[in-house]
Amino acid sequence: MSVKVRFAPSPTGRLHVGNVRTALVNWLFAKGQGGAFVLRIDDTDLERSTKEFETGIETDLQWLGLTWDERYNQSQRFDRYEEAAARLKTAGRLYPCYETSDELDRRRKVQLSRGLPPIYDRAALELTDEDRAKLEAEGRRPHWRFKLEGRRVAWEDLARGHAEVDTASMSDPVLIREDGLFLYTLPSVVDDIDMKITHVIRGEDHVTNTGAQIEIFEALGADAPGFAHMPLLVGADGAALSKRLGSLSIADMRDQGYEPIAITSHLGRIGTSDPLEVADSVEALGQSFAFSKMGRSPARYDTADLDRLNAQSLHGIAYDDARARLVAMDCDLGEGFWDAVRPNLGNSPM
Ligand code: GLU
Repeated sequence: MSVKVRFAPSPTGRLHVGNVRTALVNWLFAKGQGGAFVLRIDDTDLERSTKEFETGIETDLQWLGLTWDERYNQSQRFDRYEEAAARLKTAGRLYPCYETSDELDRRRKVQLSRGLPPIYDRAALELTDEDRAKLEAEGRRPHWRFKLEGRRVAWEDLARGHAEVDTASMSDPVLIREDGLFLYTLPSVVDDIDMKITHVIRGEDHVTNTGAQIEIFEALGADAPGFAHMPLLVGADGAALSKRLGSLSIADMRDQGYEPIAITSHLGRIGTSDPLEVADSVEALGQSFAFSKMGRSPARYDTADLDRLNAQSLHGIAYDDARARLVAMDCDLGEGFWDAVRPNLGNSPM
């Protein structure tokens, strides 16, 4: 079986170190195995997605050397999602619900006050055709929930080992919003099936989704792919990086003078047992990548490490490779000068 992975960013912002690490680990794993890397633009939300961000994502990936073998836009595949939704409806696994978010909030509060878990009570399954017609006549539009089987869904996770999610403790996930928008859950499964994705590699914040998505794969008559959920990034202070990620965009890092190989070596090796050194190339990084080297604890993102790797990569640039950039900056003073200064370069813009 030849490996095929995908990176599925939403074009609602620029790439930052968090989502680039996901792209990178997918790429390293695929290339290390001689497999394929798919770029799948998750633009089902037509209002929030922009072409500008889409182009930005491509520019950033290319700059880092993360080239793709296939490329798709989810916005071109709505007919496939409609078809899958129709099949799930026929099978009784996708059902219409009419509660407003206020009503759902109120119910959750009541459940919590009674010491019950705040999961959706499936009241909509009790509605008769007449009830539904009445609600629709009042102008209500349904959102659609996937009916979970409510069981232990287990898989062997490449990064976490044996993993299990009890779907009985989850609300039936909403797959289609009231305005008809497909949330990412179903399109992602439909695409993974159609594109013959062998491994889904993403952050551990997706573990619960995986439980529901494995049920959806099966409901659509497909085998679920392999999964790897990576520990999340934390800052040097050990605090979650998620809130600070917006300020760590790849575009800004490029403008600040970081070398792509310093960024990929850093993000590809933090949280693993490999020494934090600059690799010769992103391909070489792929050759040494293995999930078995990845620890279970969060990966520590420390800018001081990145700066050290960046200095290391600058020191290694031969004059012939540096020349065009020195000329562009109007500071090409010849090979002797470059060789004299490069060992002293810190994280300075090139
Ligand atoms: N667009 C989704 C996200 O960025 C994709 C998740 C996935 O990899 O399945 O969260």
